[in-house]
Amino acid sequence: MTADLDAQVAARLQAAGHRFSSSRRELVEVLRQAGQPIRIVDVLDSRPHLAQSSVYRNLAVLEAAGVVRRIVTGDDYAHFELAEALTEHHHHLICAQCGTVSDVTLPAEVEHRLDAALPELAAARGFVLDHHRLDLIGRCERCTTTDR
Ligand SMILES: [Zn+2]
Ligand SMILES: [Zn+2]
Ligand SMILES: [Zn+2]
Repeated sequence: MTADLDAQVAARLQAAGHRFSSSRRELVEVLRQAGQPIRIVDVLDSRPHLAQSSVYRNLAVLEAAGVVRRIVTGDDYAHFELAEALTEHHHHLICAQCGTVSDVTLPAEVEHRLDAALPELAAARGFVLDHHRLDLIGRCERCTTTDR
């Protein structure tokens, strides 16, 4: 883990009244190394010594502290990744068939257009926009090729 990430996570946990315990540190490290959204079962695969109950609990603490983001995919397998504040802004491709979630960065020009259009759309409803989340739902390459 980089010293910078370590300090940012520690500060967020402290602000939320939590310690940056060794098991929380390990979870942050697993998510950092994965570099893409992963499921709890993937965390347990890579760190078999961690108890499932503590992984659930600590992910919830990290999520509440703004360190971890949970991506809801509509099936039983929620995916987790480091929060955008600690990484960078991006979107997700979610496969409705197999539940795979992958990160996707939009071209800068598309983000610019969203940044121009969305605050206006929100303001028309008296809503002040902070940021946006936009997930693309469909079928992944593997699912579309095995379908045929
Ligand atoms: Zn799929
Ligand atoms: Zn992501
Ligand atoms: Zn965006």
